[in-house]
Amino acid sequence: MRTLIRNAQIFDGTGSPARTGAVLIDGNTIAAVAYSANALASEAADTVIDAAGRTLMPGMVEAHAHLTWGSSVEKIYHQFMLPPEELKIAAWRNARVLLDHGFTSAYSAGALGDGIEVDLARAIAAGETPGPRLIPSTLERSPEGAEGVETGDVFNGRGPDAIRKFVGFCKDSGVRSLKLVISGEDALKPGSAADIHYTDEEMAAAGEAAREAGLWIATHAYSPDAIRLALNAGARIIYHASYADQAAADAMVAAKDTTFYAPSPGVSIAALEASPPPHIDMSHMKASAAERMALESKLVPALKARGVRILIGGDYGFPFNPNGRNARDLQIFVEHFGYTAEEALTAATGLGGELMDLPVGLVREGYLADLLLVDGDPTQDVAILQDKSRLAMIMKDGALYKTPIEIAA
Ligand SMILES: [Zn+2]
Repeated sequence: MRTLIRNAQIFDGTGSPARTGAVLIDGNTIAAVAYSANALASEAADTVIDAAGRTLMPGMVEAHAHLTWGSSVEKIYHQFMLPPEELKIAAWRNARVLLDHGFTSAYSAGALGDGIEVDLARAIAAGETPGPRLIPSTLERSPEGAEGVETGDVFNGRGPDAIRKFVGFCKDSGVRSLKLVISGEDALKPGSAADIHYTDEEMAAAGEAAREAGLWIATHAYSPDAIRLALNAGARIIYHASYADQAAADAMVAAKDTTFYAPSPGVSIAALEASPPPHIDMSHMKASAAERMALESKLVPALKARGVRILIGGDYGFPFNPNGRNARDLQIFVEHFGYTAEEALTAATGLGGELMDLPVGLVREGYLADLLLVDGDPTQDVAILQDKSRLAMIMKDGALYKTPIEIAA
């Protein structure tokens, strides 16, 4: 099965400006990319799509996904924890919602249930339900003594052995990334962002056990000490990092070849904008969000300038910040972090593909055919990506998930 998309403005995911060209897809792979008005015109294909000047770009990568945080643009849940049957319905729906909005890959930042994401990732890969390629996780791990944590089971026991046991459990259950909550969370408990939940010995054990098990570590880390612990454990990704000082920033730069960073501003901006009903007090959350945005608006541009791979993904899944809004992070990167549109798009595509460790995120020969055709020019205005009706085509793994209207008939 060969699909030819011609007459497109191709943004290839590297940050280079878009150029007119054509792409040939063979099976699930990009077989050829060529640039000129008549490129690949003589290629035989089963399906030919005339892009009519629309933008062809890689599918986007969500680096901080919470598919089990129930709320989406289609359904808001006011309670955070859902009963198991409803949690599954919400997670399956959220996977489809992300794909509907142009996300063809997602890296989980933790789940609200054990086993559910492994099951969902399997169902997506088997074609049983639509969704992005998913790196599954399990419950976010906070040790005993952290806010709200009482029991000392596999998800929160203390000491290096307890951590090793948790990593072993993750490996056996099919998880690919585990999530360690190293810092407190100001938005939930004011003044706790500087709290540290793990000891040096526990984090060293986590790093060693995860490396041996072939698992990745994702980290919730706000303060310099938490960032240091995350880096020492060889974390694949650090979320937030808002209170990084110069030494922590230097350490993130030193680790830029192995550790990604996702500031996750979506949740902060949404908290600042939210107007909750009177019985919900968001004042702490808003104050914390304002402080974090002020810090990140200096930190993120500085780290980008020094070559840190910074990704989009903003803790979507809260009722005030639902799944499906994920592309809003691009606009926030442009408006608050000084990104050009091409840089924000690269964060969402090429760099995101590096996080997934898959040949995705670029329009390049040999890469998997995860592609979007966008009505309009996101290299001029990234905000258009938030409007799913602008996505004329969504292709994942070479298959048309959303078919352009002119060939749908
Ligand atoms: Zn998160």
